This record gives sequence, structure tokens and C-alpha cells, in this order.
Amino acid sequence: MKRQIKEEIAAIGRRLYEHDLNGSYGGNFSVRDEEFIYITPSGVPKDELNFSDILVIDFSGNVIEGEGKPSSETLFHIKIYKVRPDVNAIIHAHPPFGTGFAIAHQGIPNNVHEESALILGEVPVIPYEITSSKELAENIGKAIIDHNALLLANHGALTVGDTLEKAFRRMEELENVCKMLTVASLLGGAKPLPHDKFESLLELKKKRGL
Ligand SMILES: [Zn+2]
Repeated sequence: MKRQIKEEIAAIGRRLYEHDLNGSYGGNFSVRDEEFIYITPSGVPKDELNFSDILVIDFSGNVIEGEGKPSSETLFHIKIYKVRPDVNAIIHAHPPFGTGFAIAHQGIPNNVHEESALILGEVPVIPYEITSSKELAENIGKAIIDHNALLLANHGALTVGDTLEKAFRRMEELENVCKMLTVASLLGGAKPLPHDKFESLLELKKKRGL
């Protein structure tokens, strides 16, 4: 199996931690490569991940390579890759502002900030289900079909991308826009972009393939 993919996943754990986008024990990340999924293990702090900790599984969840147990959230990773053939990387994390929005059951609108509209789009909150349950995987599988980022009620955030870097950028943007919206709420609330300009922005997004 590919050491480079394992190293990228381990590095993302440290980056998320250093950027205050995830704690040591929360979250899980994966990369799809052909018929295999490279995924973080259960019970290893995400800021201390080594490439050799990353497990390789198949689409039935069987461990093909690696020691220990794959993430307890493996079910929803498999589900996402099945319903989104364009997605090759998934990041689930507990960023403090994003998770605050998830706890308040407050989604992120796509028409309040330009960059967020372009790289993130609308971020809905999906109903709470217990971690690692089949129901949670089902809810995520339905919502991810037409979104690249989700808030999981009372739990955390999830972003996807064609690369791990893209999924990371989306997680970073999700946390940034939640910070911006928090400040805006102290100043009387976010105001939407002008409708006609927003429409032009969406066209630009389509043209750029974002
Ligand atoms: Zn979680």
C-alpha cells in the first residue's frame, strides 16, 4: 500500500490540531485510492499520528493492512465514497466554532460571504444520531449527495474533496465563516449578499468547477 497517502493523512491530523480545528481524540479522516480506503485508527491521538498507524480497509470494512482498529466512524466514510464517486478524501473534525453551530443546530448559509459561497456552499445541519451508528451513516449519505460540507447536530463537522488538501481547505473555511457569523451576530446579524450579485457568483463558481 502507499506510504505517501498514509503520511498525508498523518500530517493532516497535526495540521488540524495546530490550526485549532480539532482536538487530539476527536475526528477521523480518510482517503480513497482505487478500491481501498486509507483511514485513521481508533484511539490514537490525531496530533501524534504516524504513517504506520493508518489502516487500509476495503469497502466492506475489512482491514487489509495495518495494526489496531479502524475509526469507529468507518461506516459513514464508506457510505460517502459509495454515493460520491467524485470524492477522494473526507475530514471529520470537531472545530470549536463549527461545532458550536452544530450544537445550536444552526446551518451556514451560502449567501453571506464570497469565499465561503465559492469553496464551501451551503452547510446544512443533519439530525443527531449516535456516533458510529448505521443511522448516522444513512443521514450523512443522504445529505452529502449535494453538499461538500455538513454540520452533524450536537457532534461536529464534516468536509469532503477530490483531494485531502481540498477537504482541509473546506474545513478551514467552515471554521472561519462560523467565526465571522459569530461576530456578525454580535453586530446585529449577517446580511445576505445582493441577490443578483449572488446569482453571478454562483455562475462563477460553476465556471471554475468549484
Ligand atoms: Zn466526531
